[in-house]
Amino acid sequence: MKAEELKQKLMRNKTTGWVGLQEDEKNKIFAYCEHYIQFMNDSKTEREIVKNAKALAEEYGFHDISTMQDLKAGDKIYWNNRGKSIYLAVIGKENIEDGIKIVGAHGDSPRLDLKPNPLYEEDGLAFFKTHYYGGIKKYQWTTIPLAIHGVIVKSNGEKVEINIGEKLEDPIFTITDLLPHLAAEQMERKLKDGIKGEDLNLLIGTIPYEENIAEAVKLNILNLLNERYNITEIDFTSSEIELVPAFQARSSGFDKSMVAAYGQDDKVCVYTSLTALLKLEIPNKTAVCIISDKEEIGSMGNTGMESHVFDTFLSEILNKLGINRPNLLEKVFCNSQMLSADVDAAYDPIYANVYEKNNSGYLGRGIGLNKYTGAKGKSGASDANAEFVAQIRHIFEEANIKYEVAELGKVDTGGGGTIAYILANKGVDVIDCGVPVLSMHAPYEITSKFDIYEAFKAYYAFWRA
Ligand code: MN
Ligand code: MN
Repeated sequence: MKAEELKQKLMRNKTTGWVGLQEDEKNKIFAYCEHYIQFMNDSKTEREIVKNAKALAEEYGFHDISTMQDLKAGDKIYWNNRGKSIYLAVIGKENIEDGIKIVGAHGDSPRLDLKPNPLYEEDGLAFFKTHYYGGIKKYQWTTIPLAIHGVIVKSNGEKVEINIGEKLEDPIFTITDLLPHLAAEQMERKLKDGIKGEDLNLLIGTIPYEENIAEAVKLNILNLLNERYNITEIDFTSSEIELVPAFQARSSGFDKSMVAAYGQDDKVCVYTSLTALLKLEIPNKTAVCIISDKEEIGSMGNTGMESHVFDTFLSEILNKLGINRPNLLEKVFCNSQMLSADVDAAYDPIYANVYEKNNSGYLGRGIGLNKYTGAKGKSGASDANAEFVAQIRHIFEEANIKYEVAELGKVDTGGGGTIAYILANKGVDVIDCGVPVLSMHAPYEITSKFDIYEAFKAYYAFWRA
């Protein structure tokens, strides 16, 4: 056998997915990503993504599970958990006792949250104080256009939705940084201390309400907010307001092969899994799609994956199928499988020294599988069983889906985690499976359109198999 032929037969394929792609397949990728880009522009926060996911699901015949008397194969349902996380399911033909198939992503992304007492004035400038959410490099959040999204709930329960900075006619907001001329001391600091947490104050106004009174600019801002939203300063106490990049999601590169967008961790996996679920006909095993919240800060709280609300959703399904009995849910979990749909760090040749080339995810080589995550000796990892990895590989290979297997960086260089361990602890077979991202957690993240479409195909194939 010729060496080239033998190589084809024995060695792992490491080529980019763009080579040898049929023209119609390429057109499908680009068309799909146009919809993705639109979705990203309308879904910058966890509340917005849940709202849009719910609306899309309803268009495709999904119903709130609380409105269903009983359930049968083919029924499509969701549980909206406080507007911040949502679980969707298509009931399958097989006995649910034999397990379900879950794809779970998260809708929250790193950002800056307003503090509960955000508004202050100093030397004629009014600011909002922030507390960052998730793992950010603070310096990346200064001198970029920011938009304000969120809710203020007044003590009478009335909810005011805020969304300002996205429309062209809206003002944007920004956090200042020091001019280089005066930054000698700042530039000597370590990068992580260049901008400190308490420096992340959003500039919001400069016009005083009246001359010669204290806090006149702050008062003017409050007056404007009162006119526009009918709120007072104390109403910030019961608010969840997030600062997100005001950038639009866009195609990137001369070849338009990439998507640049805020929050692709993990909204790229939300969109690809959700659209795969919507396309699904009656599956054999019940298909469940999770859009969770609070992943970026440890999955705690009643909208995070650590909460038992998801279990309650599944119990409701068992109740309404009329088959529930003690410990059935535990048994269902033990027979179930899950793709933990979260993004993967894409190899970046500019920072090659933190990656191990043979075990990295690459842009354009398909969906990335992470057998385990964790840090320093796999600590904290949910390590997928070889038998299960083989089944997933088989599904992907049968469906002609391009995948690669990766680790997050070099050994002992860093690490990370996802929601995989939470479901694995309940007995589910889980593997991390998502889209590789460049500049993860930055205000603008980069993905490959090839990988996005491959993720959509992969989640669909998993549910269909
Ligand atoms: Mn993530
Ligand atoms: Mn993340």
